[in-house]
Formats: sequence, structure tokens, C-alpha cells
Amino acid sequence: MLPSRNQLELYQQVIMDHNRKPRNFGKMECCSHQAEGLNPLCGDHLWVYLNIDEGGFIQGVGFEGNGCAISKASASIMTTLVKGKTVGEAKDLFESFSAMLKGTMASEDELERLGKLKVFSGVSRYPSRIKCAVLPWHALQGAMNQKNVVSTE
Ligand code: ZN
Repeated sequence: MLPSRNQLELYQQVIMDHNRKPRNFGKMECCSHQAEGLNPLCGDHLWVYLNIDEGGFIQGVGFEGNGCAISKASASIMTTLVKGKTVGEAKDLFESFSAMLKGTMASEDELERLGKLKVFSGVSRYPSRIKCAVLPWHALQGAMNQKNVVSTE
């Protein structure tokens, strides 16, 4: 289901807010996992830092780097969502988020589970922007899998 025009405007405001005031921004010391993410198509370049405990819980998460509003807002929102989750839960969230962007979401329930990530639902209309939105998640996945550099290309 496509968001209404009013919803899209609201979503746009949330994206701009996270772009202006990114949450959990800055290099994180003492991280257990990290990865660098590149989206050569747009020029987005960021690093994601994680502290994962022995139980597989993401205790700390941060990011830094430069990119367009979509990639920065996506990274910012991602950090607020995955903190306290397990690695498996974060991967599930990424799966659902990609499905929403690709327009292959299974159900309305799955969409509801995305919570704040719904603000990116308008991005699915712009294929070149999808890579900006998923870049931080690719970097997150890279960090969780101990892969140090990931690229959308
Ligand atoms: Zn971008």
C-alpha cells in the first residue's frame, strides 16, 4: 500500500530531522565490530560501529561519515532501532526493510513491524535512492559478519 501525500510529507520531515541531527553520530571507542560502507553511485561513505556482547545483543551502536540526506537519516534511524536487539533481530529488520524498498513486502503486518522505518517507504519510487537507504544496513550487516568493507555496487 502506498503512503498518502500527507504521510509522505510527514515522512520527509522525519528524514530531514535525522539528517540535521543524526542520532548516535561520531566515532565509537572500544567497539567490538565495525564496517565501512560505500555507495559509489551517490558518493555516500560511512562507518558503522557496534558493541555486541557475548549473548549476541547489540549493546552499543554508532556511525559516522558523509552522505546524502537519505543515507544519513537511514543510518541515524537504524542506530535508534537496533540498539538492544540481537544480531538475529537486526538481520530480520534489514530483510523487512529491503522488502519494503523493493516493493516485495509480504503483508501489512510486516510493514507495521518496521515502525519508524516506514518513513522511507516513499524511497521505493526512486530506484537510485534505494541504495542510499540500504547502505547503512549493508554496513551493519558487514560489521555483524566481520566483513570490514561493503559496497552497494
Ligand atoms: Zn545517497
